[in-house]
Amino acid sequence: MANNGKSIPWTDDESCPCGSGKIYKNCCKKKKIKYYKKNDKEYIKSIPMDKEIEKLLKSCEKKFIKVFGRKPSKNDFVIFEALDYDFDKYTRKLKYDKSIPNDYVYAYDRTGLMVNDLNKDKLPDIEIEEFNLAVQEYNKLLNEQIKDNEANMLQVAEATNEYIKNLWEETSEEIIYVLNRCIRESQRVIGITKGFNIKDIKDFILYCIYKTIQNLRTLQTLINEGYVENSFAVVRFIYEILLNVIAFKNDKELFKNKILPLVGLDEGTFERKDNNTVIEKSTGKEYYCKIKISNLAKQAGTEYELLYNTLYYDLSGFIHVDTFTAKKIFAEMDNFLDIDECYVAGILSIIFSMEIIGELSDFVDMPKQLQKDLQFYINSKFETLLNALDVIQVLDNKEIYNIIKKTLQLYKF
Ligand SMILES: [Zn+2]
Repeated sequence: MANNGKSIPWTDDESCPCGSGKIYKNCCKKKKIKYYKKNDKEYIKSIPMDKEIEKLLKSCEKKFIKVFGRKPSKNDFVIFEALDYDFDKYTRKLKYDKSIPNDYVYAYDRTGLMVNDLNKDKLPDIEIEEFNLAVQEYNKLLNEQIKDNEANMLQVAEATNEYIKNLWEETSEEIIYVLNRCIRESQRVIGITKGFNIKDIKDFILYCIYKTIQNLRTLQTLINEGYVENSFAVVRFIYEILLNVIAFKNDKELFKNKILPLVGLDEGTFERKDNNTVIEKSTGKEYYCKIKISNLAKQAGTEYELLYNTLYYDLSGFIHVDTFTAKKIFAEMDNFLDIDECYVAGILSIIFSMEIIGELSDFVDMPKQLQKDLQFYINSKFETLLNALDVIQVLDNKEIYNIIKKTLQLYKF
């Protein structure tokens, strides 16, 4: 950053290191940018230190001392809060936040520079030019005439991301609205503050509704922050809730044998034998209460079992620490040329939530008018969701999307 004593300052008549081809005094010197030779190949660029940057460096040094108990040495990184991975997320945020025009965000992503009125006098001309070229490139690509029905990659990605982003944002709010009504109309308040006891299947379903809302809210936050892998983990949670709803709603015996004994533990009518087995005190009857997700999937039907074997297995990779996840997490994603996987997770989650609503719509304990309203809502969204599946299926595994389509079609009324 500054002359450390050994470096030699650039002289006026040498060609400018910025690469413009001009000599230094006719180029960056005019903007008070200084260069120092470190060795034959490397140079150090020195720009007048901003008061803000100075403050930031001081606070980073302070933090280092507080956490590691020593002063940072010459070889220590002092600023490491922002990794490359975060830079991508930061660009993504800028892109969707729209406070800066998208062509500028694109140029920032491509060049690492952000040129504005405040700093253009401090940047080498060649960097400003590089930035401007990137701005032009974005606009050229975005506005390119579509030939033979083939849009370019940027056009496809921009249109797709805008579409699935809007669909996710609008529909997730609607679904939460619908599920809230289901809880209200079931007339028993799941007051987490008041304590909640599952006494029958109706309570259990209410609990599942509440969990769905909670997961959708979590997902909204994760997607806004750009946490792809965590977003897919939440998709798996919602998928599991769906399996629970289908399996327990349709099999009252299952509920009696797997859930109620556990509730009885709380009430003192049952006692624990081991981790998974409980005993009914009055009869001495044993209940094995552990239930595998694979069994719930089997119970839910052929499509769900297929989904378990493909999608669910994929999604596990986002939860467990395995090499598959590593590959996905550190995959190079391009904020402008790739489809935003966070929103893909969003679309999958609204489809599974919609299927949960489908289950609720013929749940006997739901008021008749509410059942009708739920069916109306699903029907009104049906084509849109099928279309969204087509849009995101270009991503990777077509087979998965075809199975999901089949599950969704089970809820057409
Ligand atoms: Zn220059």
